[in-house]
Amino acid sequence: MILKAEGLKKSFGELTVLDGIDFTINKGEVVAVIGPSGSGKTTLLRCLNFLERADEGRLVFDGAEYDLAGITRKEIIAIRKRTGFVFQSYNLFANKTALENVTEGLIIARKIDRKTAAEAGLAALEKVGMLDRKDYYPSKLSGGQQQRVAIARAMVTDPEVIYFDEPTSALDPELTGEVLGVIRDLASDGHTMVIVTHEMGFARNVADRAVFMENGIIAEEGTAADIFDNPQNERTRAFLNKSMALPGGAASAPDAP
Ligand code: ADP
Ligand code: MG
Repeated sequence: MILKAEGLKKSFGELTVLDGIDFTINKGEVVAVIGPSGSGKTTLLRCLNFLERADEGRLVFDGAEYDLAGITRKEIIAIRKRTGFVFQSYNLFANKTALENVTEGLIIARKIDRKTAAEAGLAALEKVGMLDRKDYYPSKLSGGQQQRVAIARAMVTDPEVIYFDEPTSALDPELTGEVLGVIRDLASDGHTMVIVTHEMGFARNVADRAVFMENGIIAEEGTAADIFDNPQNERTRAFLNKSMALPGGAASAPDAP
């Protein structure tokens, strides 16, 4: 086990968004998080990676235990050095090239020298098939290419866990495949990943485990085969039936970013 959250709660004002989540990630595992829009999937990832602070809960990360509400800035920085995050909307710097986007964090946050950073950056871009676009600015890249650069940026630090928040839902359907292909490659390389997605076919093929969220709780979890082929919870079943009925197996319109 690399990460375990227990009793994770998060509200925005009066609205309870996460209502006591217990969530474990094992080393080398790919976990798919599925569920209707508004069920708290993004907030869960953001709390796990401290882009959002939880109100309550405990976290065990690689054997060390933290109080999620009271964790210090220093502890957060230390954990985030060991994780990566891929956003729905890529979040690349418009005024930096693909390579500069990938190496920025190495040079600024980790104080790695430019030459070493560039070597790591080029290797990461090659991994996602973007080496030939290394000097392009984001505006000159397709959405799928931008997302592949964002994946390279998340990977370049060799993170122990990578979080993906609907990595393909901002993309035109014809660009989805190239990004899913990159993520599938990372999975076969043994990376530990948590993927929020509406791509049910992809999740079923690539994930080891699946978690179905609804109304801020984990309503059902199990092996991907269990969840997708033999869901026990009626709500999971209804959600999957609806998802599979739509073209491409997309569950619904993408969640708002
Ligand atoms: P999902 O990713 O499953 O669609 P989210 O985690 O984005 O769900 O959102 C869950 C709920 O929390 C939604 O009702 C959303 O409107 C609300 N929410 C998310 N972020 C904020 C925020 N920063 N402030 C207020 N409400 C928020
Ligand atoms: Mg979301």
